Amino acid sequence: MTEDNLIESNLTQGNLATGNLIPENLASENLASENSTQGNSKAAKPKHIILTSHQHRGKAVPIHWGAENPSDRGPIIGSIRNLQHRNVIGTHAGSYGVYRALAVASGDLDPTHKADLTNTSPPVQIGPYPSWSDPDKIVSLDPFGAFAGNVFTDYESEGYDILPTIAITKAHINLPELKEAVAQGRITVDGKLLKSDGNLLVTKAAIDPVWYLPGIAKRLNIEETDLRRVLFQQTGGMFPELVTRPDLHVFLPPIGGSTIYIIGDEKAIVDPTKPLAVRVHDECNGSDVFGSDICTCRPYLVHGIEVCIQTAQEGGAGVIVYCRKEGRALGEVTKFLVYNARKRQEGGDRADAYFTRTECVAGVQDMRFQELMPDMLHWLGITRIDRLVSMSNMKYNAITHAGIEVVQRIAIPPELVPADAQVEIEAKKASGYYSEDEVLAAEELAQIKGRDY
Ligand SMILES: [Zn+2]
Repeated sequence: MTEDNLIESNLTQGNLATGNLIPENLASENLASENSTQGNSKAAKPKHIILTSHQHRGKAVPIHWGAENPSDRGPIIGSIRNLQHRNVIGTHAGSYGVYRALAVASGDLDPTHKADLTNTSPPVQIGPYPSWSDPDKIVSLDPFGAFAGNVFTDYESEGYDILPTIAITKAHINLPELKEAVAQGRITVDGKLLKSDGNLLVTKAAIDPVWYLPGIAKRLNIEETDLRRVLFQQTGGMFPELVTRPDLHVFLPPIGGSTIYIIGDEKAIVDPTKPLAVRVHDECNGSDVFGSDICTCRPYLVHGIEVCIQTAQEGGAGVIVYCRKEGRALGEVTKFLVYNARKRQEGGDRADAYFTRTECVAGVQDMRFQELMPDMLHWLGITRIDRLVSMSNMKYNAITHAGIEVVQRIAIPPELVPADAQVEIEAKKASGYYSEDEVLAAEELAQIKGRDY
């Protein structure tokens, strides 16, 4: 009996051990004919499953995290088209992997579809930088993620499924506040970077998370075995390989990724003679997109973009790092519960109770783990930030602890803080966020109130 047979189970017999259930016939070339003989016009309904929680004999390429050369490092293969090739836990595209499953289950997506990467390569080159081969500097993304389609062509031709985890492109973005900034003379239309119609030219990079588990554990100062066990438990047992496959060190977690917006010449980012502005912004859909006035997120984000434009127009560059960590990575449901709790508490929404209300609902004030965030700055080769547009002490500490020098911190200008967001900003300043203003005493903090709904 072969090893593969040993780990084969049969759905119809209900013989399901704990494990990730991946249809055996996804890797089969005669999937289509099997489906047709089953008379199934829509979804593939496989009989057999293979548990990925056990090691396969096979052709998985080892990953040498931190290797200088991508061919020594090896490709990240999270595709499920061929189980024997997989060298990671999880699948590509973060949380969107679940939608891919729905597309396959509903018959909309052929599970054997292979991505055609023609003309998808980056229009500009970022890196490689020395930080890319420092296993302590980058642990939560694949620094070679944008090169995958170009450098692993040998594997591609041998049938391995190579998918980039980073994509880089260019765009024109247009924010109405920038026109206001031009009208007030804070930035100028130069016709190249910022056009007269308000269009701002940017280069942007989308980054999916790729976690090197030993490095994540080290960064968080915990044991890798503890990290793996708790990740397994707290996802409801979603990834058994976390506990059964110590030979797999890389995890593609089902979470949102990040987007980097580069304003100005990307080469200026690593030029020590040129200034660099950076804002690291965590997603706040309510404010960023819909303009909710309970927080400072969009005004501060746009101010960050404005500082980036000013810095780029001085010959430097600006970088906005936008992370999908909605509601301090607690999620929008928790965030809205907290809004209600804040508005309805005795005495109304008050700055002195701002963090307490979050902690009551979520158990913690914040789950963003800024310790992982500097990886994106290291990916860009950043060693010095002249203007850090952030008041967050957690972000500042993470960046400086990662060995990146911060020359100047830029707080949100007071006139940009919406009236109802005074609660948030004063509470944050009192808790240690950077500010040039005086921090309010406890009694004064209790007097800072937001409105009812
Ligand atoms: Zn917000």
